[in-house]
Amino acid sequence: MINRSRADWFHVDIMDGVFVPNISFGFPVLAAIRKYAEKPLDVHLMIVDPDRYLSDFQKAGAANITVHYEACTHLHRTVHAIKDLGCKAGVALNPHTPVTVLEDIIEDIDMVLLMSVNPGFGGQRFIENTYRKIQALKMLAYGRNENLLIEIDGGVNSSNAAALLSKGANVLVAGNFVFTSEDPVTEVAKLKDLSPGIIHI
Ligand code: ZN
Repeated sequence: MINRSRADWFHVDIMDGVFVPNISFGFPVLAAIRKYAEKPLDVHLMIVDPDRYLSDFQKAGAANITVHYEACTHLHRTVHAIKDLGCKAGVALNPHTPVTVLEDIIEDIDMVLLMSVNPGFGGQRFIENTYRKIQALKMLAYGRNENLLIEIDGGVNSSNAAALLSKGANVLVAGNFVFTSEDPVTEVAKLKDLSPGIIHI
């Protein structure tokens, strides 16, 4: 269904039961998805100490690897390790983490993922402060990384997608919204029609 839809990427949440209270899945499942997926895998690591596994995720088929700021002691090193593997490097921020923590690394990263719910479970309510955060991030990246991808993850649906894109988001993750709808392919198409931005589920 996703292959048939206009979604651009497969967003895959990897949870370790430590960084977040939930456990999702690991390499065998990711590699199995890779076998069938005709679109790039956008892998969101909600795990502690992600450095240990970066090359395994690349081997399992990740095109983009996003790590959490809150889980990386040496973020600069981690970001460059991801790029050295030939993947796009993303940094995710939890709802309480201000975008200013990226001040000295904004030029090095390909994508910033703003968590618009607390990470760990699907289907949570969207946090409204996300709009302000997108604007702050746009300001931070202005003149320094104009190609930065701004990805919004959590509680994205048809009623907030247009506003998120208008503030400057260009990647929307819409898992629960798409998968609980009667006609997922049509819902993805409607999101895609809002903007040339990337929609992935
Ligand atoms: Zn995610």
